[in-house]
Amino acid sequence: MNLKDKIRVISDFPEPGIRFKDITTLLQDGAAFRSAIDQMAAFARQQNADLIAGPEARGFVLAAPVAYSMGVGFIPIRKSGKLPGETVSVSYQLEYGKDKLEIHRDAIQPGQRVVIADDLLATGGTVSSTIKLVEELGGIVAGLAFMIELTYLSGREKLKNYEVFSLVQY
Ligand code: IMP
Repeated sequence: MNLKDKIRVISDFPEPGIRFKDITTLLQDGAAFRSAIDQMAAFARQQNADLIAGPEARGFVLAAPVAYSMGVGFIPIRKSGKLPGETVSVSYQLEYGKDKLEIHRDAIQPGQRVVIADDLLATGGTVSSTIKLVEELGGIVAGLAFMIELTYLSGREKLKNYEVFSLVQY
């Protein structure tokens, strides 16, 4: 199955000049969604993942079914102020201003192997922040799995020390 055909590209969203990759058209196709999750799970299995972490919101949609299909745990990475327990946080630069990502302090035991899953790798900023959180808790980042990689933004260059897997490239 060609998953790229299932992704819709919308021009000028969220602002003029951006060609937004919309994965909702892939998610609504049962066979395509299953194929994408199966391939991401095969990668995570290869990396011997003990846990799958995903940043909100689209990361949840992928990381949770990957974890379920492997029979391992899912770790939510959230925007500031959403997790109820004690958290560790990291600030990251947005185009305008800053934002914060958080993880529960007791989500990962030192030495556990964690695969991070998200919908899209652009500059690599979001995943770099997620990596920091996992490593701060003593987790080993065993791999990074994306549905889409925008190769022209060279996010992979920033991630040289990690195994990067993507299903569809632009
Ligand atoms: P990065 O931090 O620059 O790698 O950007 C990746 C984040 O931006 C991901 O969490 C995506 O959800 C979001 N993102 C950037 N561009 C797109 C797009 O075209 N479609 C969907 N999400 C996008």
